Amino acid sequence: MEFELPEEHRILRQTVRDFCEREVRPHAREWDREERFPHEIVPKLAELGLLGIKIPVAYGGSAMDMLSYAIVVEECARVDGSLALTVASHNGLGTGHVLAFGTEAQKQRYLSRAVTGEWLAAWALTEPGSGSDSAGMQTTAVRDGDDWVLNGTKMFITQGSVGGFTVVLARTNKAVKPQRGITAFIVEQTTPGYRASKKLEKYGCRSSDTVELTLENVRVKDEARLGEVDQGFYDTMSILDGGRVSIAAMALGLGRGALGMAVRYAKERSQFGRPIADFQAIQWMLADAQTRLDAAELLIHRAATLADQGKPFSQEASMAKLFASEVATAVCSDALQIHGGYGYTREFDVERHLRDAKLCEIGEGTSEVQRLVIAKHLLA
Ligand SMILES: Cc1cc2nc3c(=O)[nH]c(=O)nc-3n(C[C@H](O)[C@H](O)[C@H](O)COP(=O)(O)OP(=O)(O)OC[C@H]3O[C@@H](n4cnc5c(N)ncnc54)[C@H](O)[C@@H]3O)c2cc1C
Repeated sequence: MEFELPEEHRILRQTVRDFCEREVRPHAREWDREERFPHEIVPKLAELGLLGIKIPVAYGGSAMDMLSYAIVVEECARVDGSLALTVASHNGLGTGHVLAFGTEAQKQRYLSRAVTGEWLAAWALTEPGSGSDSAGMQTTAVRDGDDWVLNGTKMFITQGSVGGFTVVLARTNKAVKPQRGITAFIVEQTTPGYRASKKLEKYGCRSSDTVELTLENVRVKDEARLGEVDQGFYDTMSILDGGRVSIAAMALGLGRGALGMAVRYAKERSQFGRPIADFQAIQWMLADAQTRLDAAELLIHRAATLADQGKPFSQEASMAKLFASEVATAVCSDALQIHGGYGYTREFDVERHLRDAKLCEIGEGTSEVQRLVIAKHLLA
């Protein structure tokens, strides 16, 4: 039994569910197998308003709340983790950063193109040598007259090669503590010197675009600076709070999708002359999965609701992400177990869900980092 939602959210859930069943489910396995970003789905996502979930109507967006964002990502993930990752990162990170800290001119230029899908957004924080310790970045942006010149390498960047623009975090001041000397810039992906130097082959979320980026003397005007000079790291932390709610929602959707498959399979598959759903061992796995997913949903909805009320939600976002992602991996693994040997083949989607779910324990801060954040709040 799903958590009872206000009517507008129930309608949204049903609309996105119908869309994903119709437009995504028939292709998701093939996209994953081919490790191909499905460009053809982008205009359809835009038509449904899913590329401008929180963007105001003035820029062509859907002006929805954080709870809606979580529901959309959950419903995409029920069918396809890669698509959920695309929708989550585009809305939460790339466009989210412009929406929260951009100038009016930046919003006009980037958000209006983001909502139509003309320009998908990417967001580049991680580097080969700095992941959890993201402030340890080496990419630099140096002032040169009216311009800034960026140099460095970014790692694991979603939409880094299929997007229109990338929000890049770079060090602008080496004389201060790392957190105090980082600035964000909007770099259009056609800018000379911006290059997707490597497409990464992945365990899961294989039809989401993930690349290593090389920035070689990338020159941008000061108008491309996003937020205040040297304040980028602090802005980034607040962007990640929202992002973590969406990754939690992605985990929830993957878990719910896998559980649905397991319930169906348990009723259809017979051994020892009875459906395997008759065996208590199977029933317990199903019961635990449902209970844990419902608990994850409550944590996610609490974090999203706090955000929508304008209250602090950093700790709650980390708790939701930590719990939902670890639950999703466990639920998907049990769902595969219920499918026996067939679950281990690519003939069933359950193995794809398990592979996709593992990302949720890593992206936008690993489970270990979420525990650090939660403990920091507790001990403050
Ligand atoms: C598919 C995918 C998409 C991604 N998309 C993006 C994107 O769009 N933009 C972007 O900027 N980044 C992106 N990332 C990067 C992601 O956020 C990082 O992978 C993540 O933050 C972890 O960093 P790392 O991989 O360098 O691991 P590391 O930081 O090297 O961690 C390695 C291990 O050490 C542990 N560890 C590290 N520090 C501590 C500590 N203090 N205490 C305890 N344990 C610790 C970690 O938890 C982990 O288990 C993506 C990653 C993936 C896989």
